[in-house]
Amino acid sequence: MDAPTPPIRLRVVQGDITKLATTAIVNAANSSLLGGGGVDGAIHRAAGPQLLEECRKIRARQGGCATGEAVITIGGKLPAAYVIHTVGPVWNGGHKGEPELLANCYRHSLQLALDNKLASVAFPGINTGIYGYPKPAAAALAVREVRQWLATHEWPQEVVLVAFDAETKRLYEQELANQGPA
Ligand code: ADP
Repeated sequence: MDAPTPPIRLRVVQGDITKLATTAIVNAANSSLLGGGGVDGAIHRAAGPQLLEECRKIRARQGGCATGEAVITIGGKLPAAYVIHTVGPVWNGGHKGEPELLANCYRHSLQLALDNKLASVAFPGINTGIYGYPKPAAAALAVREVRQWLATHEWPQEVVLVAFDAETKRLYEQELANQGPA
């Protein structure tokens, strides 16, 4: 008899991350933690003022969030219970440590999911908007980091990579086909 197929733990969806009911969604924040444009603005708008209030408290305590690090708050009015805020590097040609710093965003966000035993976490394309990381390289890095994490950790049980546009969805799917499912 064949061994049972393990459940797929990494999925790709296209859409608005603020609508997802995963246990946590990840925010591509900036180091001030006080909100901004892009996905950050959309998450703060959908979550309501409680989110900013929590971010302000963290800022008062530890002075914001450094590049590559992550912090966790409640989700306010979002369907997700928690928001993990991580700060990616501004793209500066690729030789200023950007790949390692972006990898740290995934690892530290996943570490918070493990520490808090969060069942499911959804990531936007961190860094691929205003911060300018090339989308194909960011997709390859995201799939690699999440696959490596899931291969060695029980939590989170499921990760969703959220593509805002069809091009990003195609890039994620291509990487999953190349690197293999997780
Ligand atoms: P960064 O500063 O990290 O580049 P952005 O917010 O500019 O952050 O963009 C990050 C990614 O999030 C981009 O690929 C953008 O298309 C995507 N994005 C923007 N709004 C949403 C949303 N509501 N849901 C999911 N993804 C989004």
